[in-house]
Amino acid sequence: MTILKILKYGDEKLRQKCKEVSKVSKKIKILAENMIDTMYANNGVGLAAPQVGENIRMFVIDVSAEDEPLNPIVFINPKIIKKSGAIKSNEGCLSFPKAYVDVRRYKNIMVKALDLKGRPFVLEAKDGELLAKAIQHEYDHLEGILFIDHSRNIFEAIEVLRQNNLPSIEQDKIIDEPELEEEILKQESESKE
Ligand code: ZN
Repeated sequence: MTILKILKYGDEKLRQKCKEVSKVSKKIKILAENMIDTMYANNGVGLAAPQVGENIRMFVIDVSAEDEPLNPIVFINPKIIKKSGAIKSNEGCLSFPKAYVDVRRYKNIMVKALDLKGRPFVLEAKDGELLAKAIQHEYDHLEGILFIDHSRNIFEAIEVLRQNNLPSIEQDKIIDEPELEEEILKQESESKE
């Protein structure tokens, strides 16, 4: 068991687009195992390869509850093949210790990836469940995109980062998501009625 060092926000490597895995080699398998151990050691629900300094398209997720058996899932060369709906998500990230920000996500997604044996699988996550949000969050890491880029309120994000002594938001990276925001606002006004 090896606990890897997690890069913190501000490290250039978190902003790089990752490369496809050409072969699920022994080295990839060992890295995946170490990433799973590192995720558990830090009480995370997901961890992407660039967060441990590896520029490859792989992430691990475990959304099992505390009273459930562990259920780590490894995603290699993932592709999000369907996405729909919108939801607000209060997220954190192991590269942003203690910082939680409200972001926008799709409510339903379908992802295709390879497992540790190099076999393709398809996974669907619906209704804004934790798995749906986690897959989008980790997938973004492979594109050099960070959760704060999806912030609903930039001023709030700036303040949260400041309070946690993290570098400030990169304004040019903020993603404009008017359709998602519109849908979330609609849900919020309906829930108030
Ligand atoms: Zn993250």
